[in-house]
Amino acid sequence: MKTLFWLQTGACGGDSLAILSAEAPSFEQLFSSYGIELLWHPSLSHAPMKRHDELLEEIASGAQKLDILCIEGSIITAPRGTGLFDSYRGRARMEIARTLAERADYVVAMGTCASFGGVHAAGPNPSDCIGLQFDHETPGGLFPPDWRSRADMPVINIAGCPAHPHAMTQTLAAIAKGMPLRLDSLNRPSAFFSTLVHQGCTRNEYHEYDVEDVELGGRACLFFNLGCQGPLTQAVCNSDLWNGVNSKTRAGVPCFGCTAPTFPREADLFATAKIGDIPLRLPVGVERARYMAYKNLARAAAPARVQAKKMDV
Ligand code: SF4
Repeated sequence: MKTLFWLQTGACGGDSLAILSAEAPSFEQLFSSYGIELLWHPSLSHAPMKRHDELLEEIASGAQKLDILCIEGSIITAPRGTGLFDSYRGRARMEIARTLAERADYVVAMGTCASFGGVHAAGPNPSDCIGLQFDHETPGGLFPPDWRSRADMPVINIAGCPAHPHAMTQTLAAIAKGMPLRLDSLNRPSAFFSTLVHQGCTRNEYHEYDVEDVELGGRACLFFNLGCQGPLTQAVCNSDLWNGVNSKTRAGVPCFGCTAPTFPREADLFATAKIGDIPLRLPVGVERARYMAYKNLARAAAPARVQAKKMDV
């Protein structure tokens, strides 16, 4: 049995809600089939808070083993580094997180807030929010870059706002089964962060031919005008659909790039920043000069079928 304690810090609860929709495996299957014992979850545990408080003490003293600590939410460090803007029974949650993490074999940041600071760390950031081991893209958050858990792992960042349900449950299942976890340079499990949202998007053919929507509600690509970050964002949203049926771009909303450490970017999320006609930020790994030459050719070659589809909407 692997024990799991879920702590919420500066959070909206979105990751807890998202994990309930996981199917492969489901959140329940982690406990029924993968050998995880849930010590505490703030929304799902029904024991009195006295038991929660006892658990905190037992884990801190070593009387209760803690295998997996999941933290959901930004780490609030204000005012003046005390963390007391987010306190529990007079104790900064920042300190509770630190105490529990020192006892855990694995620490898993659920969502972009816990990973990098996220929404709460957006400017002007009055609560001085940071992530567990990153402050946006800069290594070092509540813990320094070289901090390691008892299993000799950095904080495992399941980025996303909210995190993808299967990125969460499959990572927990892998830990429970003792499988090796390969992480990327942002300490995100590579299995869920090595492909782009762009891959699998139903608007891809429009993107290839540079047939672009200028307002929401169409079927064409959202990259050039409507702020889509799909070609720059590593996530499985279009290859492992949410609730098995949908994704942002399939629902007509641009990808906001929520798995990136820079999320939310300080800009209109529904608009593409450009220099002249050219997006400021191009797809990952693409050279500007070649990209525009290719796009101009592709636009000219767009088959009537693709153009017509757009006009059909
Ligand atoms: S809408 Fe976004 S993810 Fe879809 S094809 Fe266009 S750029 Fe790619």
